[in-house]
Amino acid sequence: MPGTLYLVPTPIGNLGDISARMADTLAQADFIAAEDTRVTLKLLNHLGLKKPMVSYYRHNTGEHGAAVLNRLLAGESCALVTDAGTPAISDPGEELVRQCAQQNIPVVSIPGPCALITALAASGLPTGRFTFEGFLAMNRKNRRAHLKELRGETRTMLFYEAPHKLCATLADLREVFGPDRRVALCRELTKLHEEVRRTTLGEAADWYAANPPKGEFVLVVEGGAPAAEETPTLEAGLARVAALRAEGCSLRDAARQTAAELGLPRKALYDLALGKDLS
Ligand code: SAM
Repeated sequence: MPGTLYLVPTPIGNLGDISARMADTLAQADFIAAEDTRVTLKLLNHLGLKKPMVSYYRHNTGEHGAAVLNRLLAGESCALVTDAGTPAISDPGEELVRQCAQQNIPVVSIPGPCALITALAASGLPTGRFTFEGFLAMNRKNRRAHLKELRGETRTMLFYEAPHKLCATLADLREVFGPDRRVALCRELTKLHEEVRRTTLGEAADWYAANPPKGEFVLVVEGGAPAAEETPTLEAGLARVAALRAEGCSLRDAARQTAAELGLPRKALYDLALGKDLS
């Protein structure tokens, strides 16, 4: 029987966010696959745990992933951790989970710290529907192409961003969504200098151009206003009546159906179709 892959979230800055379940899972797993074993060693020391570790990060997922998979298939259990936050969310793990799913290896995802959900909850922007866009590309052309795809997006949008790219990203966001679009810049969440700056894209771009950003950011950008629904005109209704009549409907039935479909007054459609002047 295969072992289980446990996805274990770790604090995004505050060690107080370590949960009992997270510590128990690390203690009980046969081995730990860690994004950076030096970072995870500090966490294990804090918890007073000693565990065999293997590294599993962006550039070795192929070779090390296969080794982890083999150990799982042989019955060992593995706790996957990254440097901070939830594995597989803009972090290594997605591919390993996919492979486990393919091979019917059980995967248990333990709830815990995740920067995007922490930021969304604090943003003050609508949380009912949102889209997580991860990191934007370094390359300006690709970054702008990504943002242009989001032009008509009405849901709240979340982006991860590194401080050295923030100013360029804010300038592009301002250009694509306009300076008045609301944004919450969530910085250093759960840490000493935690800050949620609720402002507009125009003001944020100006502020950070003058005050170099420091720390880790999640940008929460308000969605666009939904496109106004077009109210059907009587002319459009008349065209629909004519089309239904051409299909063999009586004028009475065509007017009734069109009124129901387009929400227009039945009698006005009927009279107009008869050529009566409604003015
Ligand atoms: N898997 C992680 C998670 O669940 O949040 C995300 C890892 S991703 C490589 C790192 C990015 O997450 C950072 O560049 C930043 O955008 C965001 N992030 C992580 N910790 C943060 C914090 N304490 N405050 C704000 N953003 C944070």
